[in-house]
Amino acid sequence: KILLSAACVAFLAARWTAPRFDAESLRGARVLVTGASTGIGEQMAYHYARFGAQVVITARRDKVLQKVAEECLRLGAQKALYVAADMASESDPDTVVDFALEHLGGLDYLVLNHIGPSPFSMWEGDVEHTRWLMKVNFLSYVQMAWRSLASLEQSKGSLVIVSSLLAKMPSPFVAPYASTKHALNGFFGSLYHELAMKKSNVSVSICTLGLIDTESAMDKVRGYTDVPAYPAPERAFDIIVTGATRKPELFYPWFPRALILNKEWFPSSQTTSSKTPTTTRLEF
Ligand code: NDP
Repeated sequence: KILLSAACVAFLAARWTAPRFDAESLRGARVLVTGASTGIGEQMAYHYARFGAQVVITARRDKVLQKVAEECLRLGAQKALYVAADMASESDPDTVVDFALEHLGGLDYLVLNHIGPSPFSMWEGDVEHTRWLMKVNFLSYVQMAWRSLASLEQSKGSLVIVSSLLAKMPSPFVAPYASTKHALNGFFGSLYHELAMKKSNVSVSICTLGLIDTESAMDKVRGYTDVPAYPAPERAFDIIVTGATRKPELFYPWFPRALILNKEWFPSSQTTSSKTPTTTRLEF
């Protein structure tokens, strides 16, 4: 009860002191969104478009990106360009950033959101898949952040990282995915402090999300969990507001924070045994 009350007070205090979102600030903003052919990334592209931003979107499938870019223009984007790229490649992350810098003349927002497909199953020793997923879900983020940093510094821009509750609360069946998200939180959490120490102009926002109703997520967890899934368009909007208001963190839904504190303080209350049912323990 004490933990829950403390979490409520912290939540309300954060709401009161939060900087206000100014939608006008996004008109003409130069934005690169990764993983934007489907899911949350696609929805973010549409929101930026409605705000009149200039967007570059990327993912692997050229034809799907083309359709998303057309929809962005229809919704009001000042520019909507796409570039197909595979984030497992050594060179594509740099190529995508260079494309955005060249065609937009710089960047105000780098929104890193893509993830490679990963099975929802017990880890049975597939080291190669884990290595590949680290490249896609983590190393490409690091590479793109570095490539964009000088431009973001000039524009007083923002780095937005889409992460997961699994970076805070590992659950069964997602070991490679959870490890990539832990790596993201560790790296960008550290970078946030280093940029502050350097009095950098660049803000870093880490967005920690619970289960969202994207097709790929729902396909995986159907039959395994009764955790409610939150709608992708709303969460995409929250991510955009978090970046635009330069907040260091988005945590949605907010209540698992209390569970995480409980886990840190009372680790024995959270052990999983072979008898633990799998249906209610899974978190995202
Ligand atoms: P989706 O699976 O819907 O989208 C993933 C995107 O990444 C697609 O655009 C896909 O396009 C692209 N992608 C996949 N592999 C590659 C690759 N090798 N190179 C480049 N792009 C690639 O994901 P969600 O929208 O569900 O998730 C978006 C973000 O939100 C992720 O960071 C995820 O971890 C996070 N999140 C999602 C939750 C959820 O429940 N949905 C919960 C918590 C966090 P293409 O296939 O065309 O390449």
